[in-house]
Amino acid sequence: MKSVTIVVPVYNEGENILHFTTAVKEVMDKQPYKWTLLFVDDGSRDNSLELLEDLQARLPYVKVIALSRNCGHQIALTCGLDHARGDAVISMDGDMQHPPELLPELLARWEEGYQVVQTIRQDTQGVSWAKKKTSALYYRLINRLSNVNIRPGGSDFRLLDRQAVEALGKYREHDRFLRGMVTLLGYKVAEVPFVAPPRFAGQSKYSLSKMVKLGVDGIVGYSVVPLRVAFVGGIIFALFSFLLLLHALYVYICDEAVSGWTTIMVCMSLFGGTQLIMLGIMGEYLGRIYTEVKNRPLYLVKHNGGENETTDCQCR
Ligand code: UDP
Ligand code: MG
Repeated sequence: MKSVTIVVPVYNEGENILHFTTAVKEVMDKQPYKWTLLFVDDGSRDNSLELLEDLQARLPYVKVIALSRNCGHQIALTCGLDHARGDAVISMDGDMQHPPELLPELLARWEEGYQVVQTIRQDTQGVSWAKKKTSALYYRLINRLSNVNIRPGGSDFRLLDRQAVEALGKYREHDRFLRGMVTLLGYKVAEVPFVAPPRFAGQSKYSLSKMVKLGVDGIVGYSVVPLRVAFVGGIIFALFSFLLLLHALYVYICDEAVSGWTTIMVCMSLFGGTQLIMLGIMGEYLGRIYTEVKNRPLYLVKHNGGENETTDCQCR
């Protein structure tokens, strides 16, 4: 029998855990799989961890990993993926915004041969107009700036087969944006649309600063365009300072310039302009070092013909 692990990052979800576990059990018991609910407690400050440990002691299908402190949703999710042993691994939120009723559909698409089944949020009930608009704008921006194509509405509710989980496990960068990383894998993706209901209980655990960090990680992690902007800005300023220099010389020759004014203007614009160009060039190098330091795998093997050969393709 194939096995399925459901990974759930949890941060202060005390009011949701029991309801969520029951809802998942109801759906998964009807499925022909051996299944495990793997909770990752992300340093909760409420009673979440006690509740989870109690469930673990009573229910054979519940496993719990506790992080030492709050490391953030994406890291907690990664920890869960690293420890999941199922043939398929599903990640979902523990607040009922990722409806458990959708699980059979994800599993059906996996059985059809898709290695990644990604849910696409069509609409989120109870979310402000402003949040929806900024989210849409953000996806437009990230897709313009970087070479990955991230679907608007892509959520962290997805199924990965064993091969995709192992592949994703090779991406060890610290600032993570899993939605983008899954796109980079290049495996066969099926999409399942859904409407996210409001939370069952409690408030969103994504504070504005966490959201901004995730947004910046998404853009800076996939693009060096912002660095290039500094370089182009440097050139524009250098050109401008050259014009200023010509003007200063003109004033010096034709007009009565205050003594010393020309020298100061020329020095300032020349040095300012060249400094900005240099900063831009350094930015270009910094961008490359940054990409290298992340040490992402160069390629991933999709099929391996040789039976006994290892699929490990870490080639540096
Ligand atoms: N979460 C987490 N660590 C955090 C923030 C959130 O593990 O630092 C969990 C949270 O418990 C939930 C999921 O990540 O299961 C999604 O968080 P939330 O529902 O607050 O995000 P939203 O749906 O508002 O985007
Ligand atoms: Mg939520």
